[in-house]
Amino acid sequence: MVDRYAVFGQPIGHSKSPMIHQLFAEQTEQSLEYGKQAVSVEQFDEAIARFFSSGGKGLNCTVPLKEVAWEKADKRSERAELSRAVNTLMVLDDGSLYGDNTDGVGLVRDLTENNGIALKAQKILLLGAGGASRGILGPLLDQLPDAILVANRTVERAAKLVADFQHKGNVRSCGFDELAGNHFDLILNATAASLTGDLPPLPDNLLKPGGCCYDLAYGAEKTAFVRWGEAQGARLSLDGVGMLAEQAAEAFKLWRGVKPETAQVIAKLEAARG
Ligand code: NDP
Repeated sequence: MVDRYAVFGQPIGHSKSPMIHQLFAEQTEQSLEYGKQAVSVEQFDEAIARFFSSGGKGLNCTVPLKEVAWEKADKRSERAELSRAVNTLMVLDDGSLYGDNTDGVGLVRDLTENNGIALKAQKILLLGAGGASRGILGPLLDQLPDAILVANRTVERAAKLVADFQHKGNVRSCGFDELAGNHFDLILNATAASLTGDLPPLPDNLLKPGGCCYDLAYGAEKTAFVRWGEAQGARLSLDGVGMLAEQAAEAFKLWRGVKPETAQVIAKLEAARG
């Protein structure tokens, strides 16, 4: 029987993960199936039990399931433990459920290796304090930025997130209404606003000359935040397609023991949306 993998989340229709993992499988000459399934937080326990009891090998979890996936895992990688968010699950030989978080390493690789965006000694604004922000904050701080400011609609959620990572570097929290007058080398949008075509309420002139913008979300068209970055004069204003491919490659390596090349896959994803 062919090994089965899938991504769970809601909404899930837009997910490119099946295409990416199929391309990785062809490239590394592995035989596997990778599907997608709409699963809400309420349905998660039942869906996960059914998937693994019917022989499923590994799962990715996306919005809004990363925090419940963390709770569900019996064992976790160090980076998942700290982030309290899990995007990759697999069953270990002893039958326990193992959770990892590959989002942070995926983002850092796309920023630094694929796009040449420096993180060391930079001032970074991180918008959002959900599962994605939890996954990327630790790996971003590992790159020794000068400072990271986390702004969120629900300010208390940003404060809680920052408290969990305080020991790793210079990181603070605030609300969107406190941003005016600050200046950043890099602005990362990890809110789910782009999924509904929205933009967080951002003042002008946040970006330093030569600064860059990066939306973790992606779609067929440029996201509202990518367009905002362009209008603000960003040197680069990118969406999360490269991160998507990189976090998937890290999950694939965990499941299959081989790390696929991402450049061709990113090129195909770009071509597929014209
Ligand atoms: P969560 O549901 O866990 O968190 C959502 C966050 O977005 C919260 O901070 C929430 O604020 C904020 N938010 C939602 N709507 C709005 C809005 N209209 N205006 C301002 N803030 C808003 O989602 P995730 O953290 O898991 O995902 C966030 C984004 O990152 C998604 O777009 C997802 O697709 C993308 N992503 C991309 C990846 C990739 O590989 N490219 C990987 C992981 C995520 P509040 O706390 O106030 O509710």
